[in-house]
Parts: sequence; structure tokens; C-alpha cells
Amino acid sequence: MNEQAKILNALVTGKNFVNKDTDEYIYASLSQPPIKIIDKNNSDDELDYTVECPSCGRHVNYGEEIFMVSGHIYCSNENCRKKVYYEVGIEWVKNQLKQL
Ligand SMILES: [Zn+2]
Repeated sequence: MNEQAKILNALVTGKNFVNKDTDEYIYASLSQPPIKIIDKNNSDDELDYTVECPSCGRHVNYGEEIFMVSGHIYCSNENCRKKVYYEVGIEWVKNQLKQL
């Protein structure tokens, strides 16, 4: 399943595609680079994995502590969430201004 996510990510990101081994990274978002797996915790279900939050670098549980807004990944850390929402907000405003 992660292999298919990688192919879709490659199609969407084009020349910005980040090519990583799906045994070590999870392609969680179509538009963003993959998430680094820190520990598989003896499970074959990626929801049990410990991953590195691409926004703040914390090591968190992939199934319960990783979230997404407009394809951007953040974690359960409050400051991390605020930072990503702020960045997504800025991006949205810029896109709106382009259309004027
Ligand atoms: Zn985070």
C-alpha cells in the first residue's frame, strides 16, 4: 500500500519528488515528502509505528499522533499544530491573492 502511495506522491510532486525506501519512510501525504520511520515496534501495521514528525521532529505514534491539513503533516504537539495551520493559512491567502 505504501508503494502505491509513493507512486501517487511521485505523480503529484513531479520534479520535487523525494525518493525514499518505503521500508524506512511512509508516504503519508500526496504532496509532501515521506515521513521517516523511527521504530516499527515489532508490528507490520504502520499505524503502530513510531515516526518522526516532519514539522517539529518529535517522535510520535503514526496512527494516533500524526494529523494532516491540506496535505501538510503535523503532530499532537500544540505548537506544531499551530505552526502548520499558520503556514497553510499563509499559503491559502497567497493563492487567493493570485486570483485577484
Ligand atoms: Zn510535530
